[in-house]
Amino acid sequence: MSTTFERISAKAAELGWRCRAVPWTRVEYLREAIEGRFRDGLLDEKALRDYLSFIYQAPEGFEPRSIIVVAFQALPGRVNFGWRGGRVTVVIPPTYVGFMNRIRTVVGTLGDWLEPEGFRVARPRLPIKTLAVCSGLAEYGRNNVCYVEGLGSYLQLAVAASDMPCDSDPWREPKALDRCAACGVCGRMCPTGAISPRRFLLHAERCLTLHNESEEDFPGWIDPAWHNSLIGCMKCQEACPENATLAGRYDDLCFFSEIETGLILAGTPFEKLPGEVASRIALIDFADENYGLLRRNLQVILDRAFTTP
Ligand code: SF4
Ligand code: SF4
Repeated sequence: MSTTFERISAKAAELGWRCRAVPWTRVEYLREAIEGRFRDGLLDEKALRDYLSFIYQAPEGFEPRSIIVVAFQALPGRVNFGWRGGRVTVVIPPTYVGFMNRIRTVVGTLGDWLEPEGFRVARPRLPIKTLAVCSGLAEYGRNNVCYVEGLGSYLQLAVAASDMPCDSDPWREPKALDRCAACGVCGRMCPTGAISPRRFLLHAERCLTLHNESEEDFPGWIDPAWHNSLIGCMKCQEACPENATLAGRYDDLCFFSEIETGLILAGTPFEKLPGEVASRIALIDFADENYGLLRRNLQVILDRAFTTP
């Protein structure tokens, strides 16, 4: 007789998802791991508060007994912009587009499968990368990105809490990809020096992602030629041999004509854009508070496209 989780895993596999379940009590380990990093000087007080705010409080009337972690393929996206009589293709790394919708879909689907068996699900706020790695679902690359066998790093993670009993506990210490020991390609490809040979933890303050996700001006030490994506950065993932079989695979998202690109770059307020343009911007998740990032990041990418030989 199979367990509920084995039945869920089999259904997930049919959709190409990988999943693991760990007991809810592992939340305490997550809290201790974060506090340990603070004690070791690897996190400052603000980062500690931010991380701890991710620790989920069990909802009233719902006694969670397990945490289900799911990984599924999420390819980088491509957007085309007409500009200066030509077309510039710009990449968006995996997970930026449709992130919340995909999580809702996964948690909703788990609910559809579990509720007929008498169990409930909720969407918790938990440090999902740590969960994926410690549950045995994923391994860390030297670039601190999660990798899952068969998915490379082009993936998205989702997590659900459930009162489904957890019959086994695959928990383990965080693990790096075996390949990383003799590789180092990502460190050589990283334009900013964020990946250090001297420590495994990324120098997040050097990572382009931190800066182009922020509305603050780029620091002076960032060379404009380093920008390579509409948001985030693809350099370490594109170069990683673990992603070799996924090279050249993208989700083609949409196209903006030269006139539409000009409207974005001119800083046209979002509500004054033609509805069709606004819809496409919403499709790539740059609407509302992210719209300013689109204009700023696109400008730097287009400038680079027309100045880099
Ligand atoms: S590029 Fe090499 S070192 Fe970096 S994550 Fe991939 S396998 Fe590991
Ligand atoms: S995302 Fe870019 S900047 Fe950040 S570590 Fe990878 S290559 Fe370096």
